[in-house]
This record gives sequence, C-alpha cells and structure tokens, in this order.
Amino acid sequence: MATTAPPPQFTLATPPVARPFPAARFPASAIPTATAGVTSIDATPASQERPTSPPLHAYYDALFAAYGPQNWWPGRTRFEIIVGAVLVQNTAWTNVEPAIANLHRAKLLKPSAIEAVPFAKLAQLVRSSGYFRQKAKKLKAFVRFLRKEYHGSLTKMFRMPTAMLREQLLSVHGIGPETADAILLYAGNHPVFVVDAYARRLLERHRLGEPHHGYEYLRHFFESNLPADPALYNEFHALIVHAGKHYCRAKNPHCSECALHSLLPETTVAST
Ligand code: SF4
Repeated sequence: MATTAPPPQFTLATPPVARPFPAARFPASAIPTATAGVTSIDATPASQERPTSPPLHAYYDALFAAYGPQNWWPGRTRFEIIVGAVLVQNTAWTNVEPAIANLHRAKLLKPSAIEAVPFAKLAQLVRSSGYFRQKAKKLKAFVRFLRKEYHGSLTKMFRMPTAMLREQLLSVHGIGPETADAILLYAGNHPVFVVDAYARRLLERHRLGEPHHGYEYLRHFFESNLPADPALYNEFHALIVHAGKHYCRAKNPHCSECALHSLLPETTVAST
C-alpha cells in the first residue's frame, strides 16, 4: 500500500537494523515440540505424514531483513486511518489517496465533520476510491456509531476490550472482518492480525493454509502462532503486502527473487 506521503523505500544499499522477533514471548503452546514449526491448520489427520513448516517468525525475519520497516499505516490521525481502511475496500491505495486529500482539503477528516457534511458532497469527494456512494454511506454509518456509542470519542472507543470492540465494529454497516481488524490494529493498536488476500495467498502457496479456510480461521492461525504484539502484527502484515505486491502475485509469482524463497515447501520449490 502506498501512503498519502509515500513511505520511504527500503533499498538493499541501506539495510535496516533488524527488529528482533520477540522469541521469548512466542507462546509455548503454539510451538509443536516435535517440529519446532508452525502449527499446521490443514485437515490432515494426525496419523498421516505432514510436512514440517518453518515457524512464522522465520517468515517475519526473512521479510524484515529483506524489505525493512514498512511504516504503516499511512495516516496523520487515527480517524484518517479509519477513513482509509473503509475507502481502500476493493480498490488500490492509489485510488484512495486523492479521496483522502479531498477530505483533508475540505477539512472533513473529523467524525463530526463527516456526520455534518451532506451525503452527496461526501460521495463526490471520495469518488476516486470507487463504489463511492456505498463508501460514503459506510463512513456516515461509522461516525453515527461512534457518536451514539462513544460520544464521538475514538479514545473512549479504543479503550474497549479488543473482542468486544471487534464485535461492535462488525455490526456497523460496511465494516467486515478485514476492515474491522485494520481499524483495531492500525488505528487502535489492538493485537489483531489483519488477514487479506496477500496473506491468504502466501499461506496457501507455503502450504500453511487451504482455499476453504475462512477469514477467522486464518486470523486465529496467525494469532495463535505469534505473540500478541500489535507492533509485530503491524509490521508483519505490511511486509506480507509488500511481498504480495512485488513477488507473490496472483499469476506468475517471482519466487526466485522473493525473500521467502528458501521457506517454500520442497514440492512448491520444484514447481516454481
Ligand atoms: S513469491 Fe513465492 S516465495 Fe515469495 S511468498 Fe510467494 S510463493 Fe512464497
């Protein structure tokens, strides 16, 4: 994802200082003692042979060493991050940037301002993000929810326990699991892993997930194999998106150039 002010691009000429993976906080229950690998989430009966996968922190370490900090999420304020999380649904971030810039110019990047602005004007301002009427409706729904439940205060809202707030967000029109989790993690600093299409594709190609696995299943997979650390989730998700955009494309993945090449299962290596 790009940013309203594009994040600094990492180059191999200036390798970052690796952010150490907090191995000490890795939940012991998530580390199979026999394999020291990732808890598999496929439906293979335990009695059958199952390939051993590298632990998730190996994925994180390899991605971070190669691509460095991603400086997510773009946004000057928590509310701007929330607006971005809604507007980026089903579109690229490059289409969201002009919409955010319009809202910024119109001084509408405040919950009360979004609630007060006429719907038609709001829709026009976010037009570049696509599905602009639906997205204007979603923004209106969120700020209405915020006022009714938390007197318009994001601070009060984000003080709620994670699971309870997640339930509430999911009940707001237009907020699905991925958007709710992006809001919780990137605007609220709650320990929730965001599972998007890039994460799903990576898991499947590394034989850590299956196409039939649902969103909640995959989210639980990440969260049960990682410490509950918002900073780690933030960086890991952003790194996965970076790999997905540049290497792990839907068609013709560039595995040989990707930082995760050495972590591919043998059968997959043979086919790439
Ligand atoms: S491009 Fe290849 S090596 Fe990289 S994440 Fe995708 S499947 Fe793995």
